[in-house]
Amino acid sequence: MLHKSRVWGVALCEDQEELAQKLVDGNWVLCTAFRSAKGTIWANDATSEDAIQEFSVLLQNKEGQWQQVESITVDWCDLEKIKQYVEQADAGVFDEDGYCEVGAERFQEHHPSCHLCG
Ligand SMILES: [Zn+2]
Repeated sequence: MLHKSRVWGVALCEDQEELAQKLVDGNWVLCTAFRSAKGTIWANDATSEDAIQEFSVLLQNKEGQWQQVESITVDWCDLEKIKQYVEQADAGVFDEDGYCEVGAERFQEHHPSCHLCG
């Protein structure tokens, strides 16, 4: 269900364990996204901060397009499970089932305040 017009501020998180911890902590502002050392993007896809916390997993293809390859409901996972997903995503396990393309311009390294975090 990746949001159609949401723009994310992407923070680099190079350590898989730390990334898993951040994801499982939950209740991030809705424009939060993390990028792993391998380049996997985890984008907050929840409908609201109080709703079930969901993150979309995105990988960049050879053409430079971001593909959503998985959607993970982090509220239903413990730290170990999330860690497994983080490792699988980085290993390209989800590679084959890209089902949604997202423009690279929607992932901002320098994210100005938006209506979701401002
Ligand atoms: Zn924002």
